[in-house]
Formats: sequence, structure tokens, C-alpha cells
Amino acid sequence: ATPTALLVGTGRGAQLGILIKGPEVLESTRRVDTVVLDKTGTVTTGQMSLVSVHTAEDEEEVLKLAGALEHASEHPIAKAIVKAAGEVPVVEDFQNVEGLGVQGVVNGHAVLVGRAKLLNDWSVQLDPALTEAKEAAERQGRTAVLVAWDGRARAVLVVADTVKPTSKEAVAGLKKLGLRPVLLTGDNEAAARTVASEVGIDEVIAEVLPADKVDVVKRLQDEGRVVAMVGDGVNDAAALAQADLGLAMGTGTDVAIEASDLTLVRGDLNAAVDAIRLSRRTLTTIK
Ligand code: ADP
Ligand code: MG
Repeated sequence: ATPTALLVGTGRGAQLGILIKGPEVLESTRRVDTVVLDKTGTVTTGQMSLVSVHTAEDEEEVLKLAGALEHASEHPIAKAIVKAAGEVPVVEDFQNVEGLGVQGVVNGHAVLVGRAKLLNDWSVQLDPALTEAKEAAERQGRTAVLVAWDGRARAVLVVADTVKPTSKEAVAGLKKLGLRPVLLTGDNEAAARTVASEVGIDEVIAEVLPADKVDVVKRLQDEGRVVAMVGDGVNDAAALAQADLGLAMGTGTDVAIEASDLTLVRGDLNAAVDAIRLSRRTLTTIK
């Protein structure tokens, strides 16, 4: 390999909005056959909004209690709930439960906000009305956020995310290069499937805890795949580092960027397609 050709490649990369850690990165890029895509913030904008509230309680109180907890969280879901809640009371004993939700004490109530699994872990069951609200939201590809306090489930907050306008084209581009796209998310199966079908991905791995994302990448590698992982979150960092090629959204967290080989400056998935196409062309030039 002539270093000059590689440098030409990296220079062209910068023009395309791709930052490459080093010329050797291009070699693994060329061999990639599987592209694992994080959902929230990568395929979707990650800018969530609160769509509806289902509860038998006072809606304002639900939002105050949930908002108080989410005020301490960085999650995109948290931002949507905080925005809807307005001014919120202080929280004590706050705890972020990775990939499940948040918990803490607000106005003397022990409050849980997050996935059904978080409530289950505290032996809090959903009643039929809340179960129906949750399932209806998920059928529509939305995320149902459950709110419980003092040992009882009280509300379903429905939040929605939007697919980035360029994601569908990018997935088509990956397939055209002969690559197998896989959607990986901590979100519920139904919401993940809805997003996947919107952008043309057949393979979905959902409800994966942040710590387990790296194992999904390892499993694919054990099957003999050469894996690229595209992500944006703190929860993606280990998987990005494990992947044969890690690509971070420039709009994402510093932790994700540090763990990656390539950064897609504009947070546009099309740049991932460009990067792989570029690496193949660069190495053809070298040979
Ligand atoms: P993703 O892999 O899509 O980026 P995460 O692993 O961050 O998702 O979270 C997985 C799921 O856990 C979310 O879809 C949500 O249901 C729940 N969750 C995580 N953090 C929070 C939070 N702060 N508030 C409410 N729900 C949360
Ligand atoms: Mg994400």
C-alpha cells in the first residue's frame, strides 16, 4: 500500500464530512459485510416528543412527578417529558437504571419512570387499561413510558421519534454495496420493527440492554461476519469499540466518538455509505 493513496482517501473523506482516525482504518472498512445500526439518534433524529398521556390520575401531577425524575436524565425521552412538564419539584435518591429508566423520590413518593421491565423488577404490575394503552402505542411504532409511584402503575406516556429523512436512502445504499443492515436498539420490538420497515431493514435486534449491545456485535463476529457499528450514544460506546469498524454520529456523545474509527460529522447515515464506498475505491487505486 502506498501511503500517498491512503492520504488521498482520508482527505477526500474530510470533504465528504467523514473524519478518519488513521489511514489503517480504511482496510477494515473495505472488508465489512454487516452494518449494525443503533436506532435512536442514529437512524432516527432522537428528538422525541410527548404525544399523549394515558392515566386515571391527575395528568398534571403525573407530568410533575415523571418530569422531576427526567430532569436529572440525559436521555432523549427525558427531554421530551421535561419539556411537557414545565417547572418540576426536586428529586431525592435519583438513580438512572441503564436501558430501563429512572427512579427516585419526589414529594415523598417513590417514583419509577421507564420500561415495563423496570416496574416488573419492583413487582409493580400494569392494569388492563394501561396495558392496552402501552400496546396500542407500540403497535404504532411509538415508545410507551410507564410511570408508577408508591407501588402502583399510574400512567403511560407515549413518546414519538422521527426517522431522519436520509436514513431510507442510506440503507438502500448499504444494500447496494452488498452489506447486510441490522437494527439494534434497547427500545421495544414493535417500535423497532416499525422504524426498520420504514427504512428498509429486515433484521431487528430489540430490547437489548446497553451492556449487551457489545455481545450482539461479538456474536455476529463469531458467525464470521465483519461488522461495522454505527451509533451515537454512551450506550453504544463498547459496541463501537468492539466492532471491526466503529462509526460515530458527529451529533452524538463524545464517548461514542472516542470509541470509533470514523466520525460522520453531520450525523447523516449517507456518509457511512460514502465512507465504505470511498475505502473500496481507495484500495482499488492502491492495488
Ligand atoms: P436506544 O438503544 O434506542 O438508544 P436505550 O438503551 O437508551 O435506547 O433505552 C432503552 C429503553 O429504556 C428506552 O426505549 C426507554 O423505554 C427506556 N428508558 C431508558 N432511559 C429512560 C428514561 N430516562 N426515561 C424513560 N425511559 C427510559
Ligand atoms: Mg442511540
